[in-house]
Amino acid sequence: MEAKLMLLPGDGIGPEVVAQAVRVLEAVAGKGGHTFSYAEGLLGGCSLDRYGASLTDETLADCQAAEAILMGAVGGPKWDDPGASDRPERGLLALRRGLKVFANLRPVRVHPELVEWSPVKPDRLRGVDILVIRELTGGLYFGWPKGREIKDGRERAVDTLEYYDYEIRRVVELAFRLARGRRGKVTSVDKANVLESSRLWRQITTEIGGLNPDVSLEHMLVDTASMRLVSAPAQIDVLVTENMFGDILTDEASVLAGSMGLLPSASLGAEGPGLYEPIHGSAPDIAGQGIANPVGTILSVAMLLRHSLGLESEADWVELAVDAALAANCRTVDLGGKLSTPQMTDEILARLE
Ligand code: NAD
Repeated sequence: MEAKLMLLPGDGIGPEVVAQAVRVLEAVAGKGGHTFSYAEGLLGGCSLDRYGASLTDETLADCQAAEAILMGAVGGPKWDDPGASDRPERGLLALRRGLKVFANLRPVRVHPELVEWSPVKPDRLRGVDILVIRELTGGLYFGWPKGREIKDGRERAVDTLEYYDYEIRRVVELAFRLARGRRGKVTSVDKANVLESSRLWRQITTEIGGLNPDVSLEHMLVDTASMRLVSAPAQIDVLVTENMFGDILTDEASVLAGSMGLLPSASLGAEGPGLYEPIHGSAPDIAGQGIANPVGTILSVAMLLRHSLGLESEADWVELAVDAALAANCRTVDLGGKLSTPQMTDEILARLE
């Protein structure tokens, strides 16, 4: 197949890890007889420096015209001025909004050889294979009204947690669809004992569960879920939840894997290109040293192949090659090893051939 891909390397270690991901894409193209073409754009601090805006209309249009977008990371101390009118993270939010990606997928697997890197006890980590799906464009972060006012001589701040039925339905349906290709279990996380929006969430999820009897559904309160993620993570298959709950739970879940550098993510909408990126930031403390772990970005390539290009086998090749490299004790510095970013990729590519 032929596919047009957009690259947004971004700031800090972003360009270092995206360059390695492109090597993997090219190896997959060679092995599978595909042709991938690449356009490259600026996002975040590098775009602020060049154009005075963290995301330009032209870059957004280029992203919308691509079949999928691979991003590195944005941000860094250079652009940290809290008083600035534009910041790197703003560009990322505008990109997500512009692409209408309403579901953020974060798979968390614990590699058997890496259990000692997790702060959670090894016996709890066996068999952990979780897909967290966070609703990304609604809920508490986007509800209206929000803001501050002086009321009765007191300063008051308001945020609103609101959901329309269709916003819940589309992300929960995606969770059921993806659970069917996995262990067939959805854990829907809410706070239905307190929040009306959660009661609507639970009602719609229950309806969808009734229409999908081949997938088992459990409801879990968010406080219970936060405990379950560290006390019995192997019991969870697909976890789907509201935007802020998901923001918090995805970070908690990522700790299970042992290093930020290992985990990929995908942000998907109903149509249009998906956005793929490692979960880590621009890591300014190690940028430019060639020691960043490229695995999170390379596994994001696997998600891109699977979810945007429908290349399931090719996605499996990449994941199996990463597994094999980690099993052979290939490690970057964050996992106690000595391999540089390109050397780690060499090891993965050697196992892809
Ligand atoms: P970070 O993820 O960049 O780094 C946290 C720690 O993990 C650092 O010690 C770093 O060296 C290490 N680390 C991260 N990725 C690694 C990798 N691939 N290999 C080896 N070690 C890795 O988080 P931070 O330090 O809180 O943030 C730095 C900058 O990144 C900030 O400007 C922040 O706003 C931005 N950020 C961007 C994104 C994004 O682009 N999606 C996400 C989070 C943070």
